[in-house]
Amino acid sequence: MPKNVLMTRDGKMLATEFITHSDEETIEKGREIAAKLSAPVLVLLTGDLGAGKTTLTKGIVSGLGAAREEDVTSPTFTLVHQYQNHGKVYHADLYRVETFHDLESLGLEDALSEKAIVIIEWSERFTFRSDWPRVEIHLEHAGGDARRITVSGLNLENNAE
Ligand code: ADP
Ligand code: MG
Repeated sequence: MPKNVLMTRDGKMLATEFITHSDEETIEKGREIAAKLSAPVLVLLTGDLGAGKTTLTKGIVSGLGAAREEDVTSPTFTLVHQYQNHGKVYHADLYRVETFHDLESLGLEDALSEKAIVIIEWSERFTFRSDWPRVEIHLEHAGGDARRITVSGLNLENNAE
């Protein structure tokens, strides 16, 4: 799998870029990301419709052991799904959330008081005020079934295993 790592001159990692070629590869990438996450953390997903945000989330949530892959579905209408492993995992989709008032009614504030793992699709629609660490993941169509996935805020290198 081609991979590029963007570094600053002093060796600090800015972002890691991957190309996946199928749902399965994107889910696998999600599992890899999950292995590096610890609560509390905001996982902010951006990218167009069909870019693979929900597919990647299947990998993250199942990788965390919080739900089976097939039980992770798009929260487009229900807006927030909640899963439980050792701690809580929230999965929200802000595509249809129009106003700050609507956002408040989702109860994400509660999530942010729980030291949870909070995964947010269409996170670019709002600015989040939180001092939690954040992992930003941008997904893009890269022709056919190819998707470019850019991860920042997480060191996916140095796999000890
Ligand atoms: P989003 O949540 O960003 O709107 P979804 O994950 O719901 O996107 O949908 C992605 C769609 O693209 C699915 O129909 C999936 O089968 C398809 N797809 C094809 N190739 C890939 C890939 N490499 N990664 C993720 N999804 C892919
Ligand atoms: Mg989605």
